[in-house]
Amino acid sequence: MSELYTRRCRGCGASFSYDPQSEALKCPYCGHKEPLPPAYEGIQEIDLEEALKAAQAQTTTLTGYHLVYCQTCGAEIAAQEVRATCGFCGSENVSEKALEALPIKPQGVLPFRLTPEEAQTLFDRWLKSHWFAPSDLRDKRKIEKIRGFYLPIWTFDAQVWAHWSAQPGYYRSRTERYFDPSTRSWRTRTVTYIEWGVPVSGHHQDFYDDVLVSGLTSLPTSYLDGVGGFATPSDLQAYNPDYLLGWEVALPDKPLPAAWKEGYQRIYE
Ligand SMILES: [Zn+2]
Ligand SMILES: [Zn+2]
Repeated sequence: MSELYTRRCRGCGASFSYDPQSEALKCPYCGHKEPLPPAYEGIQEIDLEEALKAAQAQTTTLTGYHLVYCQTCGAEIAAQEVRATCGFCGSENVSEKALEALPIKPQGVLPFRLTPEEAQTLFDRWLKSHWFAPSDLRDKRKIEKIRGFYLPIWTFDAQVWAHWSAQPGYYRSRTERYFDPSTRSWRTRTVTYIEWGVPVSGHHQDFYDDVLVSGLTSLPTSYLDGVGGFATPSDLQAYNPDYLLGWEVALPDKPLPAAWKEGYQRIYE
């Protein structure tokens, strides 16, 4: 197996982890930190046609990570430490393989903002304010610590161009005279009719920026709407495997053509 991707602490030689609080690499043993400068330049939006052709061409170094495959929910999770349970569904029906590379190299990464401890505090607070939460949720909380996962997400931009045409119709009314045989007299009545206008046509143009599609079959895209509003261009960093250090990574199992099919539906329907 190839060498584990890692960055060593200059103080004590232990492996660094990415620390959301300081937005830097931090040594879990001696606390030494190394800054991770933000980088936006590397983020590229790829032409879809080209990307569909070469979807598997770009892989990235995660050599030496362990791959945990869950036979219950199908999740594939890359981690530096092997876990006995699936972080998605809690199943113990997991097996381990060696992981050579990510199936596709991400263009960007949205680094963690909260430490697992901060997330746990927020979760506890949420649980207290929701007394009706299922009791097994309360029990599970004692058993398992909160784990952070990087989730694979596809984003699409689209320029939508549509041609439309219509013929306007206007309701008009006019008064007409008619002969009423029952009274043998002329009377008047009001009739409504449609007057058709000149047909009109035009073009409609719209730009959709960063339409999100889940890269995991087991994570419905609709869940992303619930946690949306986070992905601003300034939060997104150019991909750097350093951000993954110490965290788990769910591997995408939805290839680009399938993801685009979903993205297309979100945009056009
Ligand atoms: Zn250290
Ligand atoms: Zn699972």
